[in-house]
Amino acid sequence: HSAPPGSSPSAPAPAGDALADYRIAREPYYRQVSDELELFEAAYAVRMPVMIKGPTGCGKTRFIEHMAWRLGKPLVTVACHEDLTASDLVGRFLLDAQGTRWHDGPLALAARLGAICYLDEVVEARQDTTVVIHPLSDARRMLMLEKKGEVLHAHPDFQLVISYNPGYQSLLKDLKQSTKQRFAALDFDYPEHEVEVEIVAHESGVDRDTAAKLVHIGARARNLKGHGLVEGMSTRMLIHAGSLIARSVAPLTACRMALVRPLTDDADMRDVLDAAVSTYF
Ligand code: ADP
Repeated sequence: HSAPPGSSPSAPAPAGDALADYRIAREPYYRQVSDELELFEAAYAVRMPVMIKGPTGCGKTRFIEHMAWRLGKPLVTVACHEDLTASDLVGRFLLDAQGTRWHDGPLALAARLGAICYLDEVVEARQDTTVVIHPLSDARRMLMLEKKGEVLHAHPDFQLVISYNPGYQSLLKDLKQSTKQRFAALDFDYPEHEVEVEIVAHESGVDRDTAAKLVHIGARARNLKGHGLVEGMSTRMLIHAGSLIARSVAPLTACRMALVRPLTDDADMRDVLDAAVSTYF
């Protein structure tokens, strides 16, 4: 009369329902920078795992959202952090009114039902996550649900995508060669001037002139990377500044708030950046 431990008493939800939240209904705006759309499509066609490399806020996440929409596939995104374990990705037994029940983690869900799984900043996650990623990202395309005693063969539509910021890497925190070599890689960076102006204007709602000034300020700040700044001023920050200006915040104030103060705590560096802002606004 007793159900085997761990078995699910309720029937699994139909595939369409389970991934409904992960489908992208409207086209996410993405301004193509190079040939990345075609390259990603070719990689997806053979379900090749892809690594998107580049600094924070340069368009990696937006690109994947756009590609998932373009390919008509659901997208399961996981923001990785230092406490993220293999179980968080794969799943675990949870106790509910019916007893213990297995819950697929985001990676298992994507592999089971055929989504694109995007592991953002995967290098941040615990080392044990590589153990589960490896068999999924080579010809085996399988995921071991060890605790459940199941070997999950990935759905034909499943693809694994990871992002990676080479700037942050130290010897202690880097992907292993055995992990890197499973992925094809696309290099992302801040777009060139004209393209970034277009993106900033579109996303923030400021006119092109104002967007161009913001992008010039960004370029100045990016030259200071390695000379007191750890990371460049991202496209995301320029959009933030533009959005404040579009809400009638004075440009100088908007730039201080969205560009300079978040980027540095150092008083000298702040003055240098404030001066750069003043030459444009
Ligand atoms: P990350 O590289 O950190 O994943 P995002 O993809 O979140 O960065 O990009 C930050 C913001 O910059 C996006 O929300 C989007 O508004 C904008 N953006 C950057 N690049 C592009 C692009 N090529 N096309 C459209 N929007 C972009």
